[in-house]
Amino acid sequence: MALQPSGSALPPWLARRLGLTRAGAPPSEDPAQDRALIARSLSFLFLAGATVSLIWLLLPHAESTDDLGVIAMTAGAYATGIVLFTGFDRLPTFAYKLAITMATVVITGAIFANHENGSTYVLFYFWATVYAFAFFSLTQAIFQTALVGVAFGSVLYLQQEIWEEEIARWLLVMATTFAAGLLVRFLTGTLRHRSLHDPLTSLPNRRLYLQRLDEALSRASQDNRAKKVGVVFLDLDGFKYINDSLGHHVGDALLVGVSDRLSDALRPEDLTARFGGDEFALLCEDIDSDAAALAIGERINQALEAPFSVGGNELHVSASVGVALAAPGEDNGDALLRDADAAMYAAKQRGRARCELFGEPLRERATERLSIENDLRHAIERDELEVFYQPIVRLDDGKVAGVEALIRWQHPERGLVNPGEFIAIAEDTGLIVPIGELVLDRACAQIAKWDAEGGALAGVYASVNVSARQLPNSALLLTVDRTLARHSLDPARLTLELTESVLMEQGLAPTATMAALRQLGVRLALDDFGTGYSSLSYLQRFPLDTLKIDRAFVSGIGSRGREEAITGAIITMASALGITVVAEGIETVAQLNVLQGLKCPLGQGYLFARPAPASELLDSLDRRRGDLRLAS
Ligand code: C2E
Ligand code: MG
Ligand code: MG
Repeated sequence: MALQPSGSALPPWLARRLGLTRAGAPPSEDPAQDRALIARSLSFLFLAGATVSLIWLLLPHAESTDDLGVIAMTAGAYATGIVLFTGFDRLPTFAYKLAITMATVVITGAIFANHENGSTYVLFYFWATVYAFAFFSLTQAIFQTALVGVAFGSVLYLQQEIWEEEIARWLLVMATTFAAGLLVRFLTGTLRHRSLHDPLTSLPNRRLYLQRLDEALSRASQDNRAKKVGVVFLDLDGFKYINDSLGHHVGDALLVGVSDRLSDALRPEDLTARFGGDEFALLCEDIDSDAAALAIGERINQALEAPFSVGGNELHVSASVGVALAAPGEDNGDALLRDADAAMYAAKQRGRARCELFGEPLRERATERLSIENDLRHAIERDELEVFYQPIVRLDDGKVAGVEALIRWQHPERGLVNPGEFIAIAEDTGLIVPIGELVLDRACAQIAKWDAEGGALAGVYASVNVSARQLPNSALLLTVDRTLARHSLDPARLTLELTESVLMEQGLAPTATMAALRQLGVRLALDDFGTGYSSLSYLQRFPLDTLKIDRAFVSGIGSRGREEAITGAIITMASALGITVVAEGIETVAQLNVLQGLKCPLGQGYLFARPAPASELLDSLDRRRGDLRLAS
């Protein structure tokens, strides 16, 4: 419906009046939108009708006494059209109601005064009724129609001699009027329903949810109950993966299935809404304890436990659930929803199928997060960021093949902060882009320096972590290219580490940036393999050079046994595809021996060296090498 205005030819106010909104602009959440739509079309109707009458007046026509009436009608129609056109988004509904009721009375008077012209006036009744049905509540619409009916009936009754031959015609007009009124009401109803519901699942949408939430909050504060209103926010775990790998139709069918199970799992008086994507919100009134709130999360995940069968696939989903309970007197629905969202986020971080209640610890964490965010904004300019390096070692001869650059933050009060505490925040705020550039530049400068020094670390490659936020940005390609040139490095000396979740966000195909980086000669590694979906299909779909098996996996080696077999299979398969494998987080000699036996080419871990500033790297390596029976 939204059209693109031709360039910026139209002033914005006019474009808005004509309903031409910028393509891509978010849809308005204004509840008066559908009303405005109809007011606008009615205004066009009036302006067009008035113009037709005007033309009729200007053209030669039979002399009659009607002209005065038509002139009045034309002027009135223009006036109404212009008022509707300019004021539909400003005038309160009340103004329309009053105007129409007054006009009904005035027009009836006018018909009595000038009955020859009655047929033109009666048209007014037509639109007054249609309008009432479109915009008023049903009671008011019936009242307005009754008013028109009484006015019309009394005209018919008192002026029978003039109207007799026209009665049949006017009854038809009245009948049509009712029909048109009902039709318009039905259409506005449909529009309203559509604007308040999600088309896929027919569940209420965010707008309706917020309305219901406000109602529930004001009810709760009036009753002064001990029971609380609970806002439950839930997000499906790994839905994006299903959507991307099996297609949107499977994703859609799954969402419908989930929405049915959710509605079944809740009490009939609870509200289930879909906010879009895989986000659902539930509204539960009368929650009497924290335990009851947490039980909702459990009930939801129980309801989702049985697999969904969609298009021949057996799909398993779980949900991360966040609950926020309204404090007594709370009336801010948006804030509650934000708290529930924060709790959901915390649940997601703790793993899948969890439920978190928003409370003091989370509030503290949110405040803490905010303070880190503020400090991080200044960390770059204050030169508080530092890059540590951890060697990546060839497992057959113990030589250092590369180093992974790992960021550290020397915080003036908190001391040395690990990336786990701030990378996610940097990603959310976009600060990861300048931080990523800094790490890239430092790492390249460092290996160039080692080359120049010609020691044991000359010729090693640098492995730099890249976040999802950096990848779609074609600026990354330019930065990488420039940085390599600045330090006169061969692109093959740089490996960029991407995590599975980064690849998942790219969808099914590698992005242009990935392809271009590869073209440039930069290597790409899949980091933390074994923590996410560990889908081997990534190896086939994306142009990868290196696979890094996650620490969580490597730590199981030597103690159980399955990990060993699986790791062996991964190494065999990867090397068949020409992909190098790095085992991360090697901590014990036992793990090292198993990995050596499996012919794992590269390894990284505390056993060799902890991440350290460049100046300390060689020392720490030398110290360790003595302990390990590795040739050097
Ligand atoms: P990662 O890329 O998987 O890095 C390996 C992490 O494992 C590092 O944690 C490293 O210190 C740790 N590690 C290495 N060997 C061992 C071991 O034997 N035992 C144990 N327990 N841990 C070991 P770190 O430095 O805290 O970094 C955590 C994560 O933060 C990194 O995981 C990476 O995803 C991210 N990160 C670090 N630097 C950057 C950066 O510059 N940019 C981006 N986007 N992310 C970064
Ligand atoms: Mg890494
Ligand atoms: Mg890793």
